[in-house]
Amino acid sequence: MTYTIENSGQIQFITFDALENIPFIRHGFSTRIGGVSQGVYNSLNLGVKTGDSIEDVEQNIQMFTAAVGLNYENLVVSDQVHGDIIKIVLEEDKGKGFFKERDYHGVDGLITNIPGIPLLTIFADCVPIYFVDIAKKVVGLSHAGWKGTRLKIGKKTVEMMVCHYGSDPKDIVALIGPSIKKCCYEVDQFVINEFESSFGSVSSFTTPKKDGKYMLDLWTANKIVLLEAGLRDENIRNSNLCTSCHSDLFYSYRKENGVTGRMGAIIQLI
Ligand SMILES: [Zn+2]
Repeated sequence: MTYTIENSGQIQFITFDALENIPFIRHGFSTRIGGVSQGVYNSLNLGVKTGDSIEDVEQNIQMFTAAVGLNYENLVVSDQVHGDIIKIVLEEDKGKGFFKERDYHGVDGLITNIPGIPLLTIFADCVPIYFVDIAKKVVGLSHAGWKGTRLKIGKKTVEMMVCHYGSDPKDIVALIGPSIKKCCYEVDQFVINEFESSFGSVSSFTTPKKDGKYMLDLWTANKIVLLEAGLRDENIRNSNLCTSCHSDLFYSYRKENGVTGRMGAIIQLI
C-alpha cells in the first residue's frame, strides 16, 4: 500500500506512506466520508465555490482540520484559478482564506517554513502535489489540473522554494495525491496542442484513441515536470489513487458531470 485510510470519529481521510515517516509534518487528504453536506455534496464537501451551503462547508473544513489534528484558526487556503501563482505564507497570513478574509487572489500553490500554519488546497480530479524539503523544513502544496500541469506549476513551486528558502531540489520529496488517472481522463486535440506547446513531445504521457481523442496521463506529465525541476526520481512518489475509479471515497468532477463536492489536501509543519 502507498496510503492509509484513517478514521477519526465519522471522518475518513487519507495519509500517504511517503509523507507519514517525516517526523516534523502532519498531512492528510480528505475523502467524501463523514461530513454534514447533503445531496450531491454528501457529505464531506470542502469546496466553497460549489453550490453547497457555506455553513455546511465551514463545518466540514473544521471537522477535517480537527481530524488531522491541526488548528483551524491558523488555516491558510488557496484561491485557485488553474493558474501558476504560488503564495509564500507568512506569520501575518494565519487564518486567511476561510477563518479570516483573504487579501490575495488567484493562488494555486502555497509554501511556508513556519510551523503551526496548516495549508489547504481544494480538489476534485485535479492533481494535488505535496512538497516537503526535508533539510530546510519547508512545506508546500500545488494544484495541477491540466492547465496547471501545462504551466508546470510543480516546477514553479520548487523554484519558489529554492529562491525563498534556499531549498536544494534534491532534498525535496513530492507526493502526487489522489486525482484522475489516465484510465479515466479523456481529452480533445485542443488540450494536446496546449501540452505540445509547453512540453514539446507528449508521447510519453498521452495515448491517442480511434475517435480522435486522447487519454492524458497527468501523473506522468507532473513527474516529468518535477524531474525537470531537479527532484530525484526516487523522491517523487505517487498515491496511485484515481478519484474517478474510487467514487465511493472521492468526489470526481468528471464522473459526476461537474456537480459535486471537493476534497482538500492539507499539510503543516509541527
Ligand atoms: Zn480511473
